[in-house]
Amino acid sequence: MNYKYDDKGMMKNFIDGDKINYLIKNSNEPDLKELTDILEKSFSVCDALNIEEVARLMAVKSRDKWELVFSYAEKIKKKVYDNRIVVFAPLYASNICVNNCLYCGFRSQNKEAVRRTLSMEEIKKEAEVLAGEIGHKRLIFVVGEHPRTGAEYIAGALRTIYSVKVERKNRINNIRRVNINAAPMSVGDLKIIKEAGIGTYQVFQETYDKNLYLKLHPQNTPKSDFEYRLYSHHRAFEAGIDDVAIGALFGLGDWRFEVLGLVCHAKELEKVFGVGPHTVSFPRLEKASNSAYDGVKISDEDFKKIVALLRVSIPYSGLIVTCREKPETIRSVIPFCTQRDASTKIGIGAYSERYSEQALKKQQFELGDTRSLEEIIGELADMGYITSFCTAGYRCARTGDHIMKMLKSGRESKFCKLNAVLTFKEWIEDFANSDIKKKCEKLIMKEIKEILSEDRRFSIDMKKMFFSYYQKIAEGERDLCF
Ligand code: SAM
Ligand code: SF4
Repeated sequence: MNYKYDDKGMMKNFIDGDKINYLIKNSNEPDLKELTDILEKSFSVCDALNIEEVARLMAVKSRDKWELVFSYAEKIKKKVYDNRIVVFAPLYASNICVNNCLYCGFRSQNKEAVRRTLSMEEIKKEAEVLAGEIGHKRLIFVVGEHPRTGAEYIAGALRTIYSVKVERKNRINNIRRVNINAAPMSVGDLKIIKEAGIGTYQVFQETYDKNLYLKLHPQNTPKSDFEYRLYSHHRAFEAGIDDVAIGALFGLGDWRFEVLGLVCHAKELEKVFGVGPHTVSFPRLEKASNSAYDGVKISDEDFKKIVALLRVSIPYSGLIVTCREKPETIRSVIPFCTQRDASTKIGIGAYSERYSEQALKKQQFELGDTRSLEEIIGELADMGYITSFCTAGYRCARTGDHIMKMLKSGRESKFCKLNAVLTFKEWIEDFANSDIKKKCEKLIMKEIKEILSEDRRFSIDMKKMFFSYYQKIAEGERDLCF
């Protein structure tokens, strides 16, 4: 069978670099009325803004106007996703790579890297720690690009991880959703990993500036094909995967270009498939061992602007901040975000082998936040955010264009809240120690009061069902969701 987006002829670069550069240079700072109009449009319609509008937002100079952008970013997050933060952990399974991305510790020319690929048995051990000791329900599985870690390996890993069941306090704990961050693949290969139960397929374009892209990804490597990577998500949709995630690596070039590139990418997916990205990532370049590219520094102040701009520009997408960042940086952007990782280790085999010297040598870059899930949950609770272990979307058919309508209308936020409370309750029952338990229970009571008081958002039937689920979870039943 011939697939449309396997065909090179179909892959035209839809990122208009000249237009983006023109807008960055020539967009005027909006006055207060113009600024409010753009932000209000984002808040009320929840459609992606056009790049002319985003470029105007980027031209904002005054502190007061930026504060207004930040306050809308927070409001939009709350409207679409409520006050929950979904947590996950990365599982780095292999650092062998045929590419030579100048900025990455896994690149083939980094002769100092200690290479390793986990066997299925070792992947199982990692999943056992993540599900059984820490209490994670959602993972992102990460591999370099190599024939040994292609679709069959990834599909095997998915099956292995889903098969792990760890008993704790007489209850079974397991990983319920595995997302993948891996190289671009053909439609046939993507079908193999779809079949094995992939959650979201995540590929970052790194930079949307094609000239810079070609400099950072040497010509004799597969990753040098800018368009093949740009169409990764098109092929995923063709393969039947309806949750895709985009991202750019900030610090390779001009951050303004990347924000506009991400917006163009989201709008392209909406135009062709009627569905935008499930999530958008904005990793910032970290110092990697033996890196051959220093990049450009993105200040914490600009980083906050980037995240807020993405929030208002693509209001319906989840935004993921990671432990690459320091705790204080994460705290400054978390009001705009929907997901973060916790208890993160990025060495190959690092969860089951703990922090061994060997594991550290196999990691891609240095982490900014190495705190435990428990510490992070406590901090989020202090900030008024409920930690969610929800994996419901995919299994309850709230995916693809259906979820887009729910998100844009703000209707998804009620499910986000109910599922956050239910999955948080599960974690408290199964994993919280007595110190943190009190704090978590207090937060749950506050959330329940809110659910009870909001008759417009939560129908009587919904409330009844919620309390019945809540009761069953307290009695030991698991995996009940809306
Ligand atoms: N090999 C696959 C690829 O390149 O798409 C997936 C794995 S790669 C380890 C995942 C992501 O790590 C890349 O897409 C890139 O954005 C990010 N990354 C690479 N080097 C990095 C660095 N030095 N600092 C922060 N993130 C980095
Ligand atoms: Fe390999 Fe991905 Fe690192 Fe590039 S970014 S060297 S493709 S692991």
